[in-house]
Amino acid sequence: MASAQDQIGLIMQLRRRGIRDTNVLRAIERVPRELFVDPAFADHAYQDIALPIECGQTISQPFVVAYMTEQLALNDRHKVLEVGTGSGYQAAVLSHLCRRLYTIERYRELQKSAERRFAALNITNITTIIGDGWLGWPPQAPFDRIIVTAAAQAAPEKLVEQLKIGGRMIIPLGETRDSQSLVLIDKTESGLTETPTLSVRFVPLLHGRVKRP
Ligand code: SAH
Repeated sequence: MASAQDQIGLIMQLRRRGIRDTNVLRAIERVPRELFVDPAFADHAYQDIALPIECGQTISQPFVVAYMTEQLALNDRHKVLEVGTGSGYQAAVLSHLCRRLYTIERYRELQKSAERRFAALNITNITTIIGDGWLGWPPQAPFDRIIVTAAAQAAPEKLVEQLKIGGRMIIPLGETRDSQSLVLIDKTESGLTETPTLSVRFVPLLHGRVKRP
């Protein structure tokens, strides 16, 4: 069973690793990660490591979740799009820092589990969508912020289009799994600037939605 002590230990570790934004640390503190991992791994939920989830996917390492969240510089007026709901952990953290979050997942199974977790935690500002994240979510575009939690070789064009002027996207980009880095894409009147940051390892951003059996 996890304890408040485990959660405090994780927050201290994130601070040591350089996460300074107290709003981000507080948002992480509010999300019990043990609810988002497979019960078999519950004992490891507050360690700073990625863990396997259903459908052969992973829940990201808490440091990477905190880092990506910090880089988005969110506020409570922001409308945010996440591609790659997975367990819903990153989404739950973001939901405490923005106005509304739309999150897209290919696997219905993952979407359904994530929705159950949001309901259990009384999180009401997340809309989940089953679909292909390469296409974004035109009915709600443009977005103030876009976060992609699966890796591509280049930023999907439709996502760049759906980002507001003055908006920011964060996405892992790389030719291979061993050469990915998190890239910040800022969209201004005069174009895009891309800033590579941390080196990371994400599962791939695949094409198309999963066919139901
Ligand atoms: N943010 C998640 C981690 C996601 S792992 C968390 O906090 O747990 C990446 C997820 O992206 C996987 O669940 C995978 O199924 C999903 N994914 C991959 N390609 C996708 C696509 N084209 N559209 C939507 N989701 C996609």
